[in-house]
Amino acid sequence: MSEALLEVNHLKKYFPVTQGLLGRTVGHVKAVDDISIRLEPGETFGLVGESGSGKSTVGRTILRLTEKTDGEVKFKGVDIHSLSPSEMRLLRPRMQLIFQDPYSALNPRVRVGDAIGEALLDHGLCPKSEVRGLVLEALEACGLSSYHIDRFPHEFSGGQRQRIGIARALILNPDLIIADEPVSALDVSIQAQIINLFSRLQQSKGLTYLFISHDLSVVEHLCTRIGVMYLGSMVETAARDELFRQPLHPYTKALLSAVPVPIPKLKRERIVLKGDIPSPANPPSGCKFHTRCPFAVDVCAAEIPVFRDAGGGHFVACHLA
Ligand code: SF4
Repeated sequence: MSEALLEVNHLKKYFPVTQGLLGRTVGHVKAVDDISIRLEPGETFGLVGESGSGKSTVGRTILRLTEKTDGEVKFKGVDIHSLSPSEMRLLRPRMQLIFQDPYSALNPRVRVGDAIGEALLDHGLCPKSEVRGLVLEALEACGLSSYHIDRFPHEFSGGQRQRIGIARALILNPDLIIADEPVSALDVSIQAQIINLFSRLQQSKGLTYLFISHDLSVVEHLCTRIGVMYLGSMVETAARDELFRQPLHPYTKALLSAVPVPIPKLKRERIVLKGDIPSPANPPSGCKFHTRCPFAVDVCAAEIPVFRDAGGGHFVACHLA
């Protein structure tokens, strides 16, 4: 097997819950609880789940924007959580994060050309005299025009701001981009344009993506494999076509039933889940999904289902699958 670009093994991220004046730890929010992901170079892995499932924390912990509780994150074979701050700083340009709301990451008083180019200077990646030319290249690659370079963030639409966010990541020439809900704040027609941009850039630059979304229809066109998270745990992973053709986990089935389909007779019966996602500070026993699962049986509340290969690399954690 060739070396993975990214290998995440049994990653855990628990946040302490404190109480009282002394800040005594009385419990933990298990935001990420034993997650494993492998990304080959040039692949796009879609990480899907409701808000509160822990998928954004997975992205931030992989990038070491927050420290792990346990597990391992290897980038090109190097365990990044063992690196010193200076070693980590050298690695940062290779792994970039794109946010849901790029506007919040842009200083309204800084021209977008400067905002896009500043990381090049911060990391000492090129002389100042070359920055403007590289910014123009990044703008063009992201479908923006050269005259945009001197404009301010408020002069752009939501879709254009996301293009600026992508240009900021792209200019550092990364190997891996973690895109956290990059289109969920955009209109559907603009979403399609940005997804097409991600796809074009992947083909031209050989990028690898971890694409985080609450919406399976968003990851459908871009991702080669998909993982479904629920309450900090992975409940199903499979190749995209396999997952859409034969979802095995009841939670995945519920998410898929909400995906619009172009041909009405192919439409799945809508599965509406009961209640909200439980608190990760006090997750249900056994299968964490049992409080909302329409198929739950007695064993579901008592025993944690094993995440097992159901055949052909299709993994699922369910007693009945
Ligand atoms: Fe539903 Fe039980 Fe499967 Fe969990 S283990 S998804 S509760 S059937």
